[in-house]
Amino acid sequence: MKYQRPQPVFGPVSSRRLGRSLGVDLVPFKTCSYDCIYCQLGRTTCKTVERKEWVPLDAVLDELKGKLACRPDYITLSGSGEPTLYSRLGELIAHLQAMTAVPVAVLTNGSLLWQKPVREEVALADVVLPSLDAPDAERFDFINRPHREITFERLVDGLEALRREFSGQYWLEVMLLGGYTALPAQVRQLADWTRRIRPDQVQLNTAVRPPAEEYAMAVPPERLAELARMFEPPAEVIAGGRNRRAAAASPLSGQAILALLRRRPCTVEHVAQGLLMKPAEVVKFLADLEAQGRVLGVRRDGQVFYRTTARASAAAACSRRSRTF
Ligand code: SF4
Repeated sequence: MKYQRPQPVFGPVSSRRLGRSLGVDLVPFKTCSYDCIYCQLGRTTCKTVERKEWVPLDAVLDELKGKLACRPDYITLSGSGEPTLYSRLGELIAHLQAMTAVPVAVLTNGSLLWQKPVREEVALADVVLPSLDAPDAERFDFINRPHREITFERLVDGLEALRREFSGQYWLEVMLLGGYTALPAQVRQLADWTRRIRPDQVQLNTAVRPPAEEYAMAVPPERLAELARMFEPPAEVIAGGRNRRAAAASPLSGQAILALLRRRPCTVEHVAQGLLMKPAEVVKFLADLEAQGRVLGVRRDGQVFYRTTARASAAAACSRRSRTF
């Protein structure tokens, strides 16, 4: 069977922050300016700062036109890597805003915001959700493993400059990792940076889904809640929160993933390729199935493979029996 590329538009999927989110994947799996140790998509295979039209703009717009009838809460530019690497990002956002009243969100690692043309394009969106994961340059290099052209100084300069130039909603995500950035002194430093950056909200997260590197440890929920109070105003904890509405809207995808995993353990990328889904969409379904105790992530040779649990097998056998009798 000939392999077909997944389409750039996926969902709507359940998003902790954006409700029913229609995702647009603007770069191939996995193209990013970072290679974060906590990345739920696995290790970066194309680390770059080159901006190009990775997917034809016309193809993205054509596909989106057909999907808007699902009335999403947001159109979210994100996906299998860093969306600001898409060279026609500004044009895409302008076209979307002419086509629909659905707000456009950009989920970015923020690494290219030190470049003014990138900021000008991103600032066309209704909501921008950049990230700051490290309190200093040393931890930035360790956690985000950036492309050599990106420095911590450039990152924070870009985050501050965006706030000065962008009047829309600016939600800064801070990912805390046990053993690296979750000590009070480190969180205090991060809180100082957020005071300088001045986002509308700070949202605290941790590595709740299987990370690229097993040493990227999650911070327990009760500790995250304490650390959130060190920000001014207190940060919102977004780790672990689930929006069940959209997940329940696509039960067939969850069943297809379970059927595939029953046959053999797969990585996120294997599932995405096998079922023609976007990796980001697969990650969300796997997170729901994992929360229900139906799949389990197991690390092997530096990759996370998902397999079904005994509970999922028992449920499948039960449904087969009920069909037989
Ligand atoms: S977490 Fe985001 S920024 Fe980091 S490597 Fe993965 S896709 Fe890139």
